[in-house]
Amino acid sequence: MEEGASFCRICLDGGTLLRPLKSACDCRGSMAFVHKDCLSTWRCQFPKSHEKHRNCAVCKTPYKWKERKRINYWIVPSFLASLSTSIAYVVLMQYCYPYLNVRHMLIWYQRIHPACIQRAVVGSISTVCKTFSLVVVFNPKERLYHNLCWTVGLAVPTLGLYAMLFFVDMTRLILPIFLGLYLLIEWACLLIYVLEV
Ligand SMILES: [Zn+2]
Ligand SMILES: [Zn+2]
Repeated sequence: MEEGASFCRICLDGGTLLRPLKSACDCRGSMAFVHKDCLSTWRCQFPKSHEKHRNCAVCKTPYKWKERKRINYWIVPSFLASLSTSIAYVVLMQYCYPYLNVRHMLIWYQRIHPACIQRAVVGSISTVCKTFSLVVVFNPKERLYHNLCWTVGLAVPTLGLYAMLFFVDMTRLILPIFLGLYLLIEWACLLIYVLEV
């Protein structure tokens, strides 16, 4: 096939100086050339481990270059929120550990200090925001309304469980453990996202 007559197998346009046509696999003829950005859009619809991300669907050979998904920047507030919550958690545990004595904790919790209410409000807002940013990161193509529904569905039961543990947990140990588990799940979600990109 003559180079001048070649076109992109995805958008069917020809090559230009800025968007040259490239051969990405062993395909020949009308399937031989592609724009890098056109192929990139196609490949990034699939996760990195997916057959269609790695190999040409026609000739089955691996593509000649690696592709990275574009990072969804909603991950940044999520990451910052998880980091600050984790630091707060570690600091809190450091300070609370010597006082994890049931009688002392019961007296302390029975009088709900305004500072506790402030912390609960800030903590709830941060949980809702974190959940929302993680939901958007994992469902970037979903409509805002659906992502909001997911956020409410995930954050409200979590907050309800926090509140229940706060009042029911007589040992004052279950709530910190639950919070720790929640933080671990958050970090696992962030790690999965980073590995997927
Ligand atoms: Zn193209
Ligand atoms: Zn091919």
